[in-house]
Amino acid sequence: MSNNMQTMAISNPRTGLGDFDLPLYTLQHVADEAKRLKLHQSQWWNMGLGERIAVMQNLANSMAEYKAHLVAALINDTGRASESELEVDVTINAIHRWCKQVPALLAKGEPWSAEIPFIELQQDYLPYPLVGVISPWNFPLLLSLVDAIPALLAGSAVLIKPSEVTSRFVAPFNEVLKRIPMLNNVLTLVTGAGETGQAVINAVDSLCFTGSVATGRHVGQLCAQRFIPAFLELGGKDPAIVCKDADPELAAKALCWGSMVNAGQSCMSLERVYVHKDIAPIFLAKLVANVRALKHNYPDIQQGQIGPIISAKQVKIVEAQLQDAKDKGATILCGGEVLNLGGGRYCLPTVLTDVNPQMSVVSQETFAAVLPVTIIDSDEQGVVLANDSEFGLSAAVFSQNVDYAKQIARQLEAGAVSINDASLTALIHEAEKQSFKYSGLGGSRMGAESIRRFMRKKAYIRNTGVPSPWWF
Ligand code: NAD
Repeated sequence: MSNNMQTMAISNPRTGLGDFDLPLYTLQHVADEAKRLKLHQSQWWNMGLGERIAVMQNLANSMAEYKAHLVAALINDTGRASESELEVDVTINAIHRWCKQVPALLAKGEPWSAEIPFIELQQDYLPYPLVGVISPWNFPLLLSLVDAIPALLAGSAVLIKPSEVTSRFVAPFNEVLKRIPMLNNVLTLVTGAGETGQAVINAVDSLCFTGSVATGRHVGQLCAQRFIPAFLELGGKDPAIVCKDADPELAAKALCWGSMVNAGQSCMSLERVYVHKDIAPIFLAKLVANVRALKHNYPDIQQGQIGPIISAKQVKIVEAQLQDAKDKGATILCGGEVLNLGGGRYCLPTVLTDVNPQMSVVSQETFAAVLPVTIIDSDEQGVVLANDSEFGLSAAVFSQNVDYAKQIARQLEAGAVSINDASLTALIHEAEKQSFKYSGLGGSRMGAESIRRFMRKKAYIRNTGVPSPWWF
């Protein structure tokens, strides 16, 4: 970072006060970083997978040694303690998991004979030289590295731009990188807002974007103009169907967790529930009791489950949606407002009913501890209402009959469906899943094939006989 860089004041989610000056990388700064990374990428690629794995394991171990500093910065970024610790652990585990799996995933195939007998074929995979990553504020470290780890192992260099809202973690992460010069040559984090993001798109050969649909649409267009692949992981409005034969207690427990964990600030948060009328009273009573028992992590950050809303922009969205729901006749069963506690903005854990698709709390992403519940006459009606959305990230189905639950799940327009639980995509990395509708674009971020997203396919075609005999 150069000394003459401009900065932007960023407020702390627990106090609302500006306590961090974010360096703003310009187009030129980003271009310079990209040039430096590209210069070293071929050495990174040529040193071979075994060496790259060793370097990445070194990264995981160095992060573990430096964990206290990373966690402290993430706490200031997000206003939450236990989740910050977990975030560092999950990221370290992801590096180890990839290092273990990658030799099998990138194993070289042997040459084989084509249908034409004298032609031999061999398939090769070459990494995109420079992969860009643009990430959001809800898991600042994890979502900056989730695509960077496989991209680096594939042999690419990586340029990351984290969210301007949560970039305090960059300084301690850079301290870790400095200890690993080889990696420091091929991995850089540049800070800034949208303009810096655009500069990243200008400089890279492939892009992984995680963020909102609105920005994703713009980013997708910019990438299309440059003919570079764009992997877009965008917003959601995940529905859960609680079928007539569901266990209401189990569903109420799972959906309390799935909608409220991390104060609802997860892409796979459950944001709509459709519950069959026969079990609605008992389900709602249990759900509301569970949600009422949740506490804010204020004033003691080590207590409670619900942290502040991290982004000031999001506070406005949540308040507007709650007001819109109240104006249009929703019944607030618990919560229903955003409190000001010591300057931080905390959403009261909220369950609403008497809601309809005309309310923004049902049709738009909320990204907060807010759960609208619709009572349905039949499970089939639940499917229709769940699919009545521009989003298609993930979903959940509850039924004591597993075959029936799978039948319902198959009809849902979503990339992953948890059965008799919520948000299982947070725990499972093996299954491939794609986003449906406006929730994203591109190959699966999870599962065996995901690392191939960072590689271009190339064929070597050898004539083992007499060359092109028909002209001479
Ligand atoms: P956002 O779209 O506002 O910003 C995301 C990133 O894009 C930030 O780094 C931002 O600086 C950058 N950006 C903004 N304008 C840009 C531009 N013109 N060009 C390039 N980059 C630009 O999203 P957010 O508010 O930070 O994050 C919340 C959103 O992220 C939610 O919609 C959530 O659902 C989504 N999300 C999705 C997933 C997923 O895996 N599908 C995971 C986490 C979060």
